Amino acid sequence: MGVSKTDQIIIVGGGAFGLSTALQLVQKGYSNVAVYEKDDHIPPRFSAANDLNKIVRAEYEDQFYTDLTIRAIKAWKTPLFAPYFHQVGFLHCVSGAAPQQATDTLNRFRASAERDAQIKPHVVPLDNIEDVRQACWQLDGPLSGWNGYFNRFDGYAHSGAALAGVYRAAQAAGVRFLLGEKNGAVDELVYVSTATGKKCAGIRTRNGRFHPASLVIVAAGAAVGRLVPQLGQTVVAKSWSVAHVRLTDEETSALRGIPVTYARDLGFFFEPDPKTNLLKMCPMGGGYINTDTKTGVSHSPSTLKESAFLPEEDEKQLRQLLRQTLPSLADRPFVEKSLCWFADTNDSDFIVDYIPNMSDSVIVMSGDSGHAFKMFPIAGTFLTDMLEAPGSQQPIARWRWKQSPSNDGKGDWGGDVSWRLGSSKELSSISPTKAKL
Ligand SMILES: Cc1cc2nc3c(=O)[nH]c(=O)nc-3n(C[C@H](O)[C@H](O)[C@H](O)COP(=O)(O)OP(=O)(O)OC[C@H]3O[C@@H](n4cnc5c(N)ncnc54)[C@H](O)[C@@H]3O)c2cc1C
Repeated sequence: MGVSKTDQIIIVGGGAFGLSTALQLVQKGYSNVAVYEKDDHIPPRFSAANDLNKIVRAEYEDQFYTDLTIRAIKAWKTPLFAPYFHQVGFLHCVSGAAPQQATDTLNRFRASAERDAQIKPHVVPLDNIEDVRQACWQLDGPLSGWNGYFNRFDGYAHSGAALAGVYRAAQAAGVRFLLGEKNGAVDELVYVSTATGKKCAGIRTRNGRFHPASLVIVAAGAAVGRLVPQLGQTVVAKSWSVAHVRLTDEETSALRGIPVTYARDLGFFFEPDPKTNLLKMCPMGGGYINTDTKTGVSHSPSTLKESAFLPEEDEKQLRQLLRQTLPSLADRPFVEKSLCWFADTNDSDFIVDYIPNMSDSVIVMSGDSGHAFKMFPIAGTFLTDMLEAPGSQQPIARWRWKQSPSNDGKGDWGGDVSWRLGSSKELSSISPTKAKL
């Protein structure tokens, strides 16, 4: 790859992939790095990582991602990232009412944890309700039929706060940030013809200005399809719900140190945040998509308002989860409800590669598939390893650019991914206000 250490590099998107990459590039000596982010602050409200916390669990059905997460957890324990990492453990169960698919998935995760020599010593079986209570005494609900395992190797990261921390570090190291609707929102990638074909010459921001660059990295999360339409249905903008319960100071204190508590068939919650007294919850399901009927491609809605609600079926599921675990909270109103959008791929693999036939001038870094935040401390190396690899190709075959599948209307692949239960629904079918494409 021909980009030199002094060439202008533009990153579109100040979310998890964009910030991690910006920091990694300056640490590697690239001296001319700029991040364009459409929100006017970081953490950006449009980032899938803009909330209190994300699970950091190392056991994957696929050893490749287990190994990566073990690397990421080491990095979470270094000084820049340690303030945001909490190794409280992962209580991973199914309820007594779980369908077989949920139990099978749980068992595959457990097998993965038990076969890895580094993780195995941290894993405790939870064969019955007493075992579950032993792992977390605060769970005083009926826990009917709950069983699974507890993994002390895992935990969670304060995601929004970690984005802000890396933003400050990258800025201090010399990365330029252009934020906000006028200066930071990128309307298009600008292509020019060359003797050998085409290349990306830079970007155009919403204020109409052109910004030249030798390399453009598109890390726009769920919105990547708007800037890189060539992706077609390779990436599906998809969302899951997030909701919170507001606790008293005493309730927050009583739940200090609880593990991430996850019932595969219902959803999960985290240790409450001591600053806000909010306990964050997510239901497990196939998620919601927002398909443009003309192209068959799902895009994230352009305004936040369209995502500011909790679908009825998800609310029911979360109340059921609370009734089983923390019944005193089961009827409390949910606050700060939203759908959180991510970039899904059919095999849950990320995409980190050059856009083909563009003279190595533009890279897509997306396809997080709803599981990339745990990689935040090392995600930037996915990009720099590729820049430094011989030839102009992503050395990790599974992260290479893939041809878009034909428009057969099956682009949502919700239920086809083993670790998610249920199929995806259209946002328009559940939305209180009709989503705009
Ligand atoms: C509900 C939910 C739960 C999740 N839970 C977990 C979890 O437990 N563990 C885990 O590891 N991961 C989890 N994830 C996934 C994780 O949040 C994402 O993998 C990660 O945030 C993806 O990073 P990204 O940089 O690709 O996208 P984002 O973080 O979404 O960032 C994209 C950025 O690009 C900006 N942008 C978009 N378009 C433009 C434009 N045209 N111009 C300028 N800027 C633009 C956006 O404003 C945004 O800031 C979860 C995701 C969701 C939705």
